[in-house]
Amino acid sequence: MASMSTYRPAARPHLKPSSFIVSPRPPPCTLALRSRLFGSRIPVDLCATRTRLNGPSGAGQPLGRVRVGSRPVVASQHSFDVVIVGAGIIGLTIARQLLLESDLSVAVVDKAVPCSGATGAGQGYIWMAHKTPGSDMWELALRSHQLWESLAENIHDQGLNPQEVLGWKKTGSLLVGKTVEESALLKRRVKQLSEAGVEAEFLSSHELLLEEPALSVDKESGAALLPNDCQLDAHRTVAFVEEGNRQFVSQGRYAEFYHDPVISLLRSGKNGEVEAVLTSKSTLYCKKAVVIAAGCWTGSLMRDLDIGVDVLVKPRKGHLLVLENFDLIRLNHGLMEAGYVSHQQIMQHSSVSAAGLSNDEEMLSISMTATTDTMGNLVLGSSRQFVGFCTEANASIIDSIWKRAQEFFPKLREMNLAEIGENRKCLMGSQ
Ligand SMILES: Cc1cc2nc3c(=O)[nH]c(=O)nc-3n(C[C@H](O)[C@H](O)[C@H](O)COP(=O)(O)OP(=O)(O)OC[C@H]3O[C@@H](n4cnc5c(N)ncnc54)[C@H](O)[C@@H]3O)c2cc1C
Repeated sequence: MASMSTYRPAARPHLKPSSFIVSPRPPPCTLALRSRLFGSRIPVDLCATRTRLNGPSGAGQPLGRVRVGSRPVVASQHSFDVVIVGAGIIGLTIARQLLLESDLSVAVVDKAVPCSGATGAGQGYIWMAHKTPGSDMWELALRSHQLWESLAENIHDQGLNPQEVLGWKKTGSLLVGKTVEESALLKRRVKQLSEAGVEAEFLSSHELLLEEPALSVDKESGAALLPNDCQLDAHRTVAFVEEGNRQFVSQGRYAEFYHDPVISLLRSGKNGEVEAVLTSKSTLYCKKAVVIAAGCWTGSLMRDLDIGVDVLVKPRKGHLLVLENFDLIRLNHGLMEAGYVSHQQIMQHSSVSAAGLSNDEEMLSISMTATTDTMGNLVLGSSRQFVGFCTEANASIIDSIWKRAQEFFPKLREMNLAEIGENRKCLMGSQ
């Protein structure tokens, strides 16, 4: 998630009537608190169809054509009520909400394609395990969790399989502690979560081993089990949301402009009001609002656009190691080490420095996370570091993720990462 501190709206009266909306600091797959995003005026199965939407059936002649993967979507106009900058999960779901719950027309613009940002890099945890009741993000995370669950139920009620449509799995999550202190912390967390209405249970070392036989467990180990935590596949989910949004193309209410970065704003010569968003290829007139949902680029983009709202966003890079066709260990839940939560992550400073990382990377932290994705791959994580917008893979970090996982899973100690060869890939993203 983007590390974002408070933002200060500065007085810019000339922005009206178009208003700017900055997507809030995104909690996991965030939705607005009051959102009825997944309540649906259109049947879910309609959203889930793989219909090709080629023709401009809205009023007016087509003015622009954009390509989304192999599927062309034709924009029948270049004037919209709302222009959304950023087609990550936040931008696309805001579009969905506006399309389903209002009569507004919406354009979504992206400098690349959906999933090219943080959305495509995530593990897809829809977890409450590492959220803290009473914290700033708690209510939003809780609401977000409920909305995703409702969507999965809705899809199921329509006779579709949420696992196929969204990659949805209700595996439950386990926060794993290895020491007496961590186990005590997890007991307190279970109490706190239960009091806040989230189902949670503390597992002793014996119970933990029964749940996850692949784990290295000794008598001091313990875990917090949240049976209702889920995960989804970001790529499938984005495809689903896009398909739903595209149902509105024929009404002239929706268009996508991909591979088309937003460059600047067109302001009225008279009063400085924003009239349009200028991209590398298009001029998109906006009648009511511009939404900036550009993930970790939001802060710099707002400065470049001279919007006058200071959003302090510092990109935080993460690495994940994906092991394909890997059957050495099997997991029954999503796993995360307890240190991830307390933000007293296991600092890999010494070993990683020895591997030759620069001083800038000393903020690096690595905590064990382990899940099985929709394809059955083992996904190990995760790193966090503040290295600007760099998206290069770092072999030393991958090695550290592997070594951390070996501390939790004895079977992994039997093999060298190099042996896995081509059956591994690395996911990176900044959030
Ligand atoms: C490694 C990793 C693992 C994660 N795991 C999880 C997880 O398990 N669970 C969870 O809930 N969250 C997870 N997250 C966080 C989650 O992925 C993000 O919070 C979420 O995807 C943010 O979505 P977004 O739409 O705000 O940003 P993004 O997906 O980054 O989308 C922003 C979009 O804006 C576009 N853009 C930027 N500048 C411009 C411009 N000038 N013009 C046009 N478009 C522009 C970009 O191309 C991009 O597509 C993880 C993140 C990472 C990096």
